[in-house]
Amino acid sequence: MNSKIKKIGLLGGMSWESTAIYYRLINEGIAQKLGGLHSAEILLYSVDFEKIARLQMEGDWAQASKLLVEAAMCLEKAGVEGILLCTNTMHKVAGDIIETIDVPFLHIGDATAEALKNRGIKTVGLLATAFTMEQDFYRGYMQEKYGIEVLIPEPSDREIVHRVIYEELCKGRVLNSSKMEFIRIVDLLSNRGAEGVILGCTEICMLLSQEDTSTHLMNSTEIHAQAAIKFALDC
Ligand code: GLU
Repeated sequence: MNSKIKKIGLLGGMSWESTAIYYRLINEGIAQKLGGLHSAEILLYSVDFEKIARLQMEGDWAQASKLLVEAAMCLEKAGVEGILLCTNTMHKVAGDIIETIDVPFLHIGDATAEALKNRGIKTVGLLATAFTMEQDFYRGYMQEKYGIEVLIPEPSDREIVHRVIYEELCKGRVLNSSKMEFIRIVDLLSNRGAEGVILGCTEICMLLSQEDTSTHLMNSTEIHAQAAIKFALDC
């Protein structure tokens, strides 16, 4: 295999817990494909998540977008050949980043939709932050661009998922009680007709894995990291 490796820019820190997983997965994937001591060529811009989370809560997406666009420009100036935004939620402002940069932007929704298509899944459940579950930027994208129907949990369960993400997983806390709740919510989505469930927040894979349920889980962190590996190696 061609061992020219493209430089990948990770726009991360949202949270750093999941960015660390991206870093490991991308390096492991490159090593597996190329062997020897090969590893990924990565530039990382890791933001202070407190700032971004505050802007999310205040609904100041314009300011959050500005910070991420500046970070993406920094990565581009530093020579990356493609950029990944290591969070589903902040894909709300993906359009602003795409408009600004010249290098390819590897959209997490495209990678996830591709993985769903490969498994023949057309109706899928979604576990994510309230922003991603309730606003149109993610579900609308999947529906309009790919014809994928996305089911979300009931309001009280959406609250649980959102709280666990920000109060536990983004702080590195992995609790068995929360895992049980997530398994219950996955079961409910599956009973409503979901042929699989997207772990549509990049920290959820810290809590839930395929061994925990017979419902097919689509891990957005892993899927996105795989897209980065393919891009980096042109394969
Ligand atoms: N990493 C998360 C996601 O994939 C949530 C953190 C954030 O709000 O960016 O959506």
